[in-house]
Amino acid sequence: MIQVSEKCVGCGKCTTVCPFGALSLVNRKAVPSAACTMCGACVSQCPVKALSLPAAGAAKKDLSAYKGVWVFIEISDNGQMQSVRPVGFELLSKGRELANQLGEELCAVIIGNNLQPYFAELSQYGTDKIYAVEGPAYARYNTAAYANAMVTLIKKYLPSVVLYPSTYIGRDLSPRISSELFVGLTADCTGLSIKEGNLIQTRPAFGGNIMADIKCPDYRPQMSTVRPNVFKKVVTTPGRMAIIVKEAVAVSPQAAKVRIISTQMNPPASGMKLDEAEVVIAGGRGMKNKAGFDLLETLAGELGGAVGASRAAIDLGLKPKEQQVGQSGVTVSAKLYVACGISGAVQHVVGMEHSDVIIGINKDANAPIFNVCKYGLVGDASQILPRILEQIKANKK
Ligand SMILES: Cc1cc2nc3c(=O)[nH]c(=O)nc-3n(C[C@H](O)[C@H](O)[C@H](O)COP(=O)(O)OP(=O)(O)OC[C@H]3O[C@@H](n4cnc5c(N)ncnc54)[C@H](O)[C@@H]3O)c2cc1C
Repeated sequence: MIQVSEKCVGCGKCTTVCPFGALSLVNRKAVPSAACTMCGACVSQCPVKALSLPAAGAAKKDLSAYKGVWVFIEISDNGQMQSVRPVGFELLSKGRELANQLGEELCAVIIGNNLQPYFAELSQYGTDKIYAVEGPAYARYNTAAYANAMVTLIKKYLPSVVLYPSTYIGRDLSPRISSELFVGLTADCTGLSIKEGNLIQTRPAFGGNIMADIKCPDYRPQMSTVRPNVFKKVVTTPGRMAIIVKEAVAVSPQAAKVRIISTQMNPPASGMKLDEAEVVIAGGRGMKNKAGFDLLETLAGELGGAVGASRAAIDLGLKPKEQQVGQSGVTVSAKLYVACGISGAVQHVVGMEHSDVIIGINKDANAPIFNVCKYGLVGDASQILPRILEQIKANKK
């Protein structure tokens, strides 16, 4: 929160410039509320220099007490059943590597109600400890309640690294925690490693034209979000049970401001979640029109897969935005990825390169997509795809 010194004369200027309405005058003195994001907009406007950000003090903290790699585990709820989102296992797998390099513990943090059924599965990824915050008040995701629980645990146990999934929930939760703790947060990392005790967070920058390595040497914990399918999940300790640490955290008063009355799940456009599909048939500008994408839908139907698209195809209105694969869309890690009429721009490739087998169909033999393909077919996709479909149907007879 912003700091107000004795110099404050209660002029009220800060209350008018605060974009979040987080400052008010109490007894002719500025008082910040929990809504303060420490954006600093008020600091330069104060005529008597009474306002400051608490950065300098935090930087001098002794960081040696911060130990442990934590992963926030998200529970997904499809309306009928709840389960751990697979990205949690992917982050635990990467977290294990980081913890080994740091010589620290790997811990999962899970918040919800009736968490016992998740413990055994979470333990298999080399997890040393599971911190569980349980109770009916946590049954459904609530930003303020979950953020308060995470902040309480982080302040108590001082982890050095905290990883979050880059999902709707992770993207909502992690910035709240980083502003509360006044630490950095690197979004959508595509690589994580350790160098000289610091977490190196790699992510595309400048429109995906460079990969930037970001580190936060002066603050702890170091926090990152990672999209689903960026890292592979690896079971390293089958049958082993982590130490379970149950923590009671009272629900913060702010949490009561939001009440979930009902939830409605929108089914994925192709009937299958793109980021969980084992087979993805993707089309780009080269598929040209609806008839081109109908061919892809038919092939996906035959192979039990989902249809994805490049941004160019999305911009042409050939598919809805949620089917975009790439840097500003979904990251997939399919067993089979077929790229039809897609050039292979770096912003597309970062979203599919982790697939096991990539097949490219492009009429340009020099298209960059062939650099990431295991198999490449040079030719007109509108002629090649019907022949593949014919063959699949013939094989099924
Ligand atoms: C900040 C930023 C974020 C971005 N995020 C994404 C993202 O998330 N996902 C994404 O996809 N892009 C993204 N882009 C856009 C990206 O740079 C490319 O412009 C885009 O991927 C190109 O899509 P495309 O390959 O379908 O089209 P094009 O580059 O136009 O390529 C079309 C290809 O189709 C081939 N072709 C044409 N006709 C046929 C045919 N009949 N049969 C076979 N092949 C044919 C051509 O040879 C060509 O290779 C982003 C760009 C920026 C700047």
